[in-house]
Amino acid sequence: MSHFADHLVVMLTRRLGVFRYSARAIALVWATSRALTVGLALATLVAGALPAVAAWLGQLIVDAVVAARTLEHAQNGAELWPVLRFVLFEALVIALMAAAQRGLSVQQALLRVLLGQKVNLMILDKAQRLSLAQFEDAEFYDKLTLARREASTRPLALVIKTFGLIQHAISLASFAVLLVHFSPWALVLLVVGALPVFFAEAKFSGDAFRLFRRRAPEARMQAYLETTLAREDSVKEVKLFGLGPLFLKRYRAIFTKLYAEDRRLTLRRDGWGFLLGLLGTLAFYLAYTWVVVETINGRLTLGEMTMYLLVFKQGQTAVSASLTAISGMFDDNLYLSNLYAYLEQPVPAEQGTLCAGCRPGDGIRFEDVSFYYPGATKAAIAHIDLHVEPGQSLALVGTNGSGKTTLIKLLTRLYTPASGRILLDGSDLAEWDIDALRRRVGVIFQDFLRYQLSAGENIGVGDAVTFEDEARWREAARLGMADEFIGGLEQGYRTQLGRWFKGGRELSGGQWQKIALARAYMRRDADILVLDEPTAAMDAAAEAQVFEHFRRHAEGKMTILISHRFSTVRSADHIVVLEHGHITERGSHETLLAAQGRYAELFELQARGYR
Ligand code: ADP
Repeated sequence: MSHFADHLVVMLTRRLGVFRYSARAIALVWATSRALTVGLALATLVAGALPAVAAWLGQLIVDAVVAARTLEHAQNGAELWPVLRFVLFEALVIALMAAAQRGLSVQQALLRVLLGQKVNLMILDKAQRLSLAQFEDAEFYDKLTLARREASTRPLALVIKTFGLIQHAISLASFAVLLVHFSPWALVLLVVGALPVFFAEAKFSGDAFRLFRRRAPEARMQAYLETTLAREDSVKEVKLFGLGPLFLKRYRAIFTKLYAEDRRLTLRRDGWGFLLGLLGTLAFYLAYTWVVVETINGRLTLGEMTMYLLVFKQGQTAVSASLTAISGMFDDNLYLSNLYAYLEQPVPAEQGTLCAGCRPGDGIRFEDVSFYYPGATKAAIAHIDLHVEPGQSLALVGTNGSGKTTLIKLLTRLYTPASGRILLDGSDLAEWDIDALRRRVGVIFQDFLRYQLSAGENIGVGDAVTFEDEARWREAARLGMADEFIGGLEQGYRTQLGRWFKGGRELSGGQWQKIALARAYMRRDADILVLDEPTAAMDAAAEAQVFEHFRRHAEGKMTILISHRFSTVRSADHIVVLEHGHITERGSHETLLAAQGRYAELFELQARGYR
C-alpha cells in the first residue's frame, strides 16, 4: 500500500512538473512589487469567486419570479421589489467582476514593465560577476543569451498563467460548494470526468519541456545561422564566399528534423486531448440529464435548474481555460529553468584585498606559471619564469598560438594560473584587490572593442573615472596619434563612430587602432602598459612613430609589447621567444641575434623580405 502511495506521489510530481517554477515566478513578482502582488491576488480572488455568486443570484431571481407569478394568480397583483432586489444585486456583482478583471489587466500591464526591468537587471548584474572563462563556455553563454532574449515577457507570462489557474480553481471550488447541495455524486462525476484530460495535458507539457531541453544544441545552431545570415558584420563574408545557400540549406535541414518531432508531439497531444476531453463532455451531459430529470420530477426548482446548468457550463469553460494555461506553461518553464540555471551559476569569489604589494618596486614576476584552457589537455603556456622591473620593457615574440595573449590574460587576472604564481610587487595577484590591480594596468588587445559611441568617448573608455573629461581625451589622442584624423571629422570628438546609430562614421582599421592606443594613454596612473599587436593594421611609418611616443611616455613604467615587426621588437630591453607555450629563448636583440637561434632565424626572414 505504502509502495503504491510512493508511486502515486512520484507520478503526480512528474505530471505536475509543469508548475515547478510557478512558486519562483510568484516570489519574483513579490520581490518586484509587493503592492501589485497583493492587488493581483485580491483581484484574482474576487474574479474567481464572483461567478458562483452570480449563478446563485440567478437561481434566486428565477425562483422569485416563479413565486411572484403564483402569488399574482392568487392575489391579483404582486410585489415587484423582492425580485428586482436580486436583479440589482446581480448587476452589482457583474460590475464588481468587471472591476476585478480590469484590475487584473491593469496590474499585469504595470508588472510587465517592472518585472522585465527587474529580470534584466538581475541578468546583467550577474554578468558583471562572471569570470571570462565562464563567458567562453558555449553552453553557459547560451544560457545567458536565452535568459536575456525573453526576460521582459516570460516571467510575467508564467505569473499570469499561474494566477489564472488559481482564479479558475477558486471558481471551480465555489461551483463545487453550490453543486454539493444538489448531490455530492454529481460533483464526483464532473471531477472524475475532467481529471484524465488534465493529467494528459500536464504529461504532454512535461514531454514538450524535455524535448525542448534535449534539442537545445540544434536550436542554438539554428539561431547562430540566423545571425550569421542576417547581421551587418558577417554579411560581407557570407556574400563574397557565397555561403548563403549553404547556410540556408543547413538551416532548413535542422528545421525539418525539429519539425518532425514537433509534429509527432502535437498530434499525440491533441489526439489524446480530444479523446480524453470527450470523457469530460460525457460526464457533463450525464449530470445535465440528471438535473433536467430531477427538475421534471419536481425535486429541483426552476431556479435551481438554471443555476446548475450555468454552473456546469461555466465549470467546463474554467476547466478548458485551465488546460490552455497549462499547455502554455512549458515554454515559460523552459525559460525560467534556464534563467535560474544562469542566475545560480556559482561565481569565483574575488577575495583579494591588497592595494599595495609587500615589496613595492619589485615589478612583475612569473614563477613557473602554467595554464590550461577549460577542456584543453595541452597547456596554453607552461613553466613560464619572467621578471619585469619598473622602467623595463619586455617584448613577446612567437608564432600565432604560441601563448602570448594568454600570458597577458593571466597577468591581468582574467584567468588564474593552473600552477605557479604571478607576483606584482612581491604579492601574489590572487591576493590583490581586483580594482587596485586593474587600475595599475593599461592594456590594449588586438581584438579591442569598437564602441558605438562618440570618438571622444571611444578614447574615454580607457579610464572609467575620467570617461567624460574632454581635456584628457585630447591629450590621450595626441599621444596615440589619433588627434590628427579626429580633428578632420565633421564634429571632431563628438562624432558618432560605427554604423549602428544614425550619422555614425566608420573608420579604417588603422584609425581604429589609433583610437585604441589613445585609450591606453587615458590611464595616466597605470604603471604597467601592455600592447598586444595593436599596430598591425597601421603602416610602418605610423607604427614607428607610435612606438616612439610609447617609449617616451613609458618612462619609469613597465611595458610589455607583442608585435610581429622586429623593427619594433628590437628596441625592448628583454625579448622573450615563446613556442607552444614554452619560453625557448630570451635576451636582448643583440644577444639573441648572436645566439643564432629561432629569433635570429625569424629576424633574418623578415629582414630579407625588406631588402
Ligand atoms: P598568441 O597570442 O600567441 O597568438 P594565444 O595565447 O592566443 O596565442 O593562444 C595560445 C593557445 O591557446 C592556442 O593554442 C589557442 O588555440 C589556445 N586558446 C587561446 N584562447 C583560447 C580560449 N579562449 N579558449 C581556449 N583555447 C584558447
